[in-house]
Amino acid sequence: MRILITGAAGFLGSHLSDKLLGDGHEVIGMDNFITGNSDNIAHLAGNEKFTFYKRDISNYIFVPEKVDAILHFASPASPNPQSKSGYFNLPIQTMKAGALGTHNCLGIARAHNAKFLLASTSEIYGDPLVHPQTEDYAGNVDPVGARAVYDEAKRFAESLTMAYHRFHGVNTSIVRIFNTYGPRMDLEDGRALPNLLKQALLNQPLTVYGNGSQTRSFCYVDDLVDGIVKLLYSSEHLPVNIGNPVEMTILQFAEAINKITGNPAGITFVEDARSARDPQQRQPNISRAKEILNWEPKINLEEGIRKTIPFFKSKLGLA
Ligand code: UDP
Repeated sequence: MRILITGAAGFLGSHLSDKLLGDGHEVIGMDNFITGNSDNIAHLAGNEKFTFYKRDISNYIFVPEKVDAILHFASPASPNPQSKSGYFNLPIQTMKAGALGTHNCLGIARAHNAKFLLASTSEIYGDPLVHPQTEDYAGNVDPVGARAVYDEAKRFAESLTMAYHRFHGVNTSIVRIFNTYGPRMDLEDGRALPNLLKQALLNQPLTVYGNGSQTRSFCYVDDLVDGIVKLLYSSEHLPVNIGNPVEMTILQFAEAINKITGNPAGITFVEDARSARDPQQRQPNISRAKEILNWEPKINLEEGIRKTIPFFKSKLGLA
């Protein structure tokens, strides 16, 4: 297949490009670099099967090459208010990537008779009142709340995707991605793993927001990519959760990072701007992914963090 990936210079887009090129496909990568980083795809420069266009998918784009599949991964994704690449500081671009970007990608899919796969998110569940989250849970999102620009853009994107499927017969899939980590994460995007692992490797105390009792479930990027590619090859149209169901509190997560890295500096509790409106618990129910895709994650937290450390060390000049 010839596969178009938006957000190809991002954390997930670049790993997906590698995986799909490895499977023998051609990849056309697009990114406007507002949050993506050219370093993530620099190694693909000489690859004959990889073409890259700097484009903003929120604008109409004519794609002359026939494409067989489109993976729409372009969007800011960090909820950190301090981060320049987070969606608090890119609110309009975030809504445009989810709304206009999804519309343009679906239009390309329809014109090319191509498969369309939407990168959606656990954020569509908001601060969930059902736990763990199953795909039939409709979520708890405030349309004018702190995370609304991201959450509602992705909710709209899901609705539009289903509309193109139901009304135009486009072959679509929707993946709801839960917290994911690994090499090529932006060290400065303010999310839990980059912040805490960076602090640990610099022997600094780890900043846990609030009392650290909020929970998350962290998936290593290779497992996630494996699940997404299985979904791409499937004929499933309804949303599928992909994530690691091993849930832990952020305090436990920080303690695990200190243990794995041997950081003696401990933990400091910080009253961060986001603490008050942080989703309190998040864990994917992955029964559908297991049943439909025969997928489940294989890499545990310790192994995943060990695989991530060399990238962080090199970025921090510690290698
Ligand atoms: N967090 C933290 N310290 C940090 C960064 C994040 O305690 O330095 C917490 C944050 O409050 C949230 C969790 O870690 O409860 C996961 O945050 P992240 O930004 O990775 O993404 P989210 O899951 O909230 O979208």
